[in-house]
Amino acid sequence: MEYKTYMCVICGYMYDEEAGDQEHGIAPGTKWEDVPMNWTCPECDAKKDDFEMVEV
Ligand SMILES: [Zn+2]
Repeated sequence: MEYKTYMCVICGYMYDEEAGDQEHGIAPGTKWEDVPMNWTCPECDAKKDDFEMVEV
């Protein structure tokens, strides 16, 4: 299982698939494509479209 990280291009928030976003109901290990479309950046409310995959 390979996890990826996605970064909000607006504020720099990092979504780590391995960590998920437990405060907002996204379980650890949730793949980016399985994150609901209505999920938004916890820091700036950007949509998933505003995230880009980053190499870590
Ligand atoms: Zn953001």
